[in-house]
Amino acid sequence: MTDNNQKKDNQDEVSLYEKMVSQTEELVGSGRKTLDEALKRVQDDWSSAGNFTREQSEKISTYVKRDIKHIVDSANKGKTNVKEAVDPKRIGVGAKSIFSRILSSTAETLGDWAKKSEGNLEFKTGEITSPGSLTCKECGEVIHMKKTAKIPPCPKCHKTLYRKSY
Ligand SMILES: [Zn+2]
Repeated sequence: MTDNNQKKDNQDEVSLYEKMVSQTEELVGSGRKTLDEALKRVQDDWSSAGNFTREQSEKISTYVKRDIKHIVDSANKGKTNVKEAVDPKRIGVGAKSIFSRILSSTAETLGDWAKKSEGNLEFKTGEITSPGSLTCKECGEVIHMKKTAKIPPCPKCHKTLYRKSY
């Protein structure tokens, strides 16, 4: 695979991620679906439309879920104010505050997500994630991601595991 193809694939997954967030937000925003129902519905729609395989949509939804859970978790532990975590001014100029509608929705919509703590969520090289700061678990190097992107290997020690903050 050439570099250009690799870039295009990365870009495709990032746009799928953003598309899934925005479609989920529409369903949650209309007030008829909980977060879990909305995510499942988007996955089903994508699969039945035949544009994406079940594997693709499941993979992307795993990233979306993890990122939402991580923000909700951090907020529950008092580490992050949800409003701050999704504030475009904090995330970076021009970056879309992608989860704002989901996270500002009611506690009923968030359901169990608002209560459950997931422990240590992992962020690995090669996965897509929303804007934030990633700290390498190995050497402590920090990467500031200003937009949704594929997580690179650590620029300093080339390891692949991070924790995330906002
Ligand atoms: Zn490192």
